[in-house]
Amino acid sequence: MTVETIGGTAGWQLDYAFPPPPEFARQANIRDPEIYDRAAADFEKFWADFAAELDWMQPWHRILEWNPPHAKWFLGGKLNVSVNCVDRHLKTHPDKVAILWEGEPGDMRTLTFRQLHKEVNQFAAALHSIGVSKGDRVTIYMPMVPEAVIAMLACTRIGAMHSVVFGGFSADSLRERTNDCGAKVVLTADGYWRRGNIVPLKKTTDEALTGCPTVEKVVVLRRIGEQASITMQPGRDIWWHELVASAPAEYPPEPMDSEDPLYVLYTSGSTGKPKGILHTTGGYLTGVYATTKMVFDLKPNDIYWCTADVGWVTGHSYVVYGPLANGATVVMYEGSPDWSRDGKPCQDRFWDIIERHKVTILYTAPTLIRASMKWGEEPPARHDLSSLRLLGTVGEPINPEAWLWYHKNIGHERCPIVDTWWQTETGAIMISPLPGITTTRPGSATKPLPGIFADVVDEQGNSLPPGQKGILVITKPWPSMLRTLWGDDERYKQVYWSRYPGRYFPGDGAMRDADGNFWLLGRVDDILLVAGHNISTMEMESVLVEHPAVAEAAVIGKAHEIKGQAPVAFVIVRQQYAPQDAAAAERLRQELKEFVAKKLGAICRPDDVILTADLPKTRSGKIMRRLLRDIAEGRVLGDTTTLADPTVVANLRKKYEGTE
Ligand code: ATP
Ligand code: MG
Repeated sequence: MTVETIGGTAGWQLDYAFPPPPEFARQANIRDPEIYDRAAADFEKFWADFAAELDWMQPWHRILEWNPPHAKWFLGGKLNVSVNCVDRHLKTHPDKVAILWEGEPGDMRTLTFRQLHKEVNQFAAALHSIGVSKGDRVTIYMPMVPEAVIAMLACTRIGAMHSVVFGGFSADSLRERTNDCGAKVVLTADGYWRRGNIVPLKKTTDEALTGCPTVEKVVVLRRIGEQASITMQPGRDIWWHELVASAPAEYPPEPMDSEDPLYVLYTSGSTGKPKGILHTTGGYLTGVYATTKMVFDLKPNDIYWCTADVGWVTGHSYVVYGPLANGATVVMYEGSPDWSRDGKPCQDRFWDIIERHKVTILYTAPTLIRASMKWGEEPPARHDLSSLRLLGTVGEPINPEAWLWYHKNIGHERCPIVDTWWQTETGAIMISPLPGITTTRPGSATKPLPGIFADVVDEQGNSLPPGQKGILVITKPWPSMLRTLWGDDERYKQVYWSRYPGRYFPGDGAMRDADGNFWLLGRVDDILLVAGHNISTMEMESVLVEHPAVAEAAVIGKAHEIKGQAPVAFVIVRQQYAPQDAAAAERLRQELKEFVAKKLGAICRPDDVILTADLPKTRSGKIMRRLLRDIAEGRVLGDTTTLADPTVVANLRKKYEGTE
């Protein structure tokens, strides 16, 4: 990428600035900005101070060993993750609720730390009884139920690695991931509820396992009951409740070396074949513990809800390990945001959950916010959201319009918003406001956290001044960084460390402003090159969303003979602006082209605007721009196994090719 400022920053409305509300700042865990200097002065000590707040069975003798690109943290230290997430809290608050769960049909369960301790112990003993021991891999293919968390923690108690596969993935995806890590045991359920239907997890598991030679046992949780009609394979399949009933009540935690593997997690694959990201024990736990404490300002009475599925890294780090290491009460919800407790479509389930459970901290994804914008202001307005005190987002850049909508309609202009940039690979949040200190700017993840060091560089690796778009790099190791790709260290070196040796390359574009805030521009692969100018898709999308008719937009570059690439915009229109006929649709398309040209310059004028009801997204809700490029360029679609809904691309293709 060359150095460019084409397009300006119209989409970002740099004049918006939200200092922390004084009443929030007064009570915040972190109030003193000197934390950044302290971390910069000695970043190893900074992280070691957090690590020391955890329970270690044996102290480390060295904080960091850095042989680029391989890091080891807290060398010689021994600890157990389940002890830190559960046992540790029995001393101080055994009867506090650890998990507050709600099923889609409205059924509810709570587990205190004491109860969670019992369940984790029993299930660890149960897993051990079927042959799982330290270093083995266990695939977890489960719904959002407390047992998913119990299963993860039970693996860590034994020292087995888990590989959680999102419960919405297909048999092929499950098979590929199970084989890649060579799992011995698969944990699943008969099914779960999604928009009033049963998702038949056990059936899909059976299909996947026709081609998984390493799997010896399958443990099946009964979530649905009779209606799920499943078959159990004798000798291989065991009911969870039967296995636990005959297991001892206690399982002593395995002392794990700080660098022993904790889990492998396959990334969602927005950009291609999934990569098995490997995280280890001491550094990872320190990273998620510290960032949860800093970014979410956790207090003993908080009711904390991260809406991510445990199948994603956000679910690992901020549903399970980070909050439980902090002894927090975690809300979990099984189902869809647009399905009510009485089994009907709705647009306010999340707001209903917040009101009933008095959620204080909400951490969700831009895709949910954009869907809510499309549904309008009325659904959240029906609910009392006054318990909320802090909001967060993760997963994609959040358009400033969506940020402001969230701020107004959910946070009631009272709650700080933390826009957190990080990845499966980074394990923990990297760039984010500290809510008691940072002046936030809609659309910017603001600054690297204390102890994290980032830069924006050009193609050659030279640091770029403020206002210039370039490539994000992380310049120093951090505790929760991935250690390698499972079984493929060469790919690890090549993907993340070959572009700028010694510096980590996340694959995202970024720009800094004069105040040192980072503005994420989307994936480097998605940045367009039009007539020699770099154009950020993020910026064009944010401008489109500023138009009152637009709820969501995805911009891609289509190969063009003269310009190199031409921008093409796929746009979802807000319900009340839906054009009534072809002529109205054409008028709107023209209007949107002019709107972008006026705001960002003629060079950014989209060649095509396609009005669509939906965009291809990963199961975690991220727009898959590479498939939109395939459609626009008339190519065979690339890997679509991680798509949430394959019919969306099929329909778009028909539409694009004018057959509909
Ligand atoms: P794959 O790497 O397999 O294509 P993925 O990148 O979608 O999958 P994740 O690790 O879940 O899988 O996502 C990390 C990416 O999400 C980041 O690299 C970035 O592009 C995007 N992202 C996450 N949070 C933010 C944020 N707050 N602002 C901007 N982008 C974000
Ligand atoms: Mg990625």
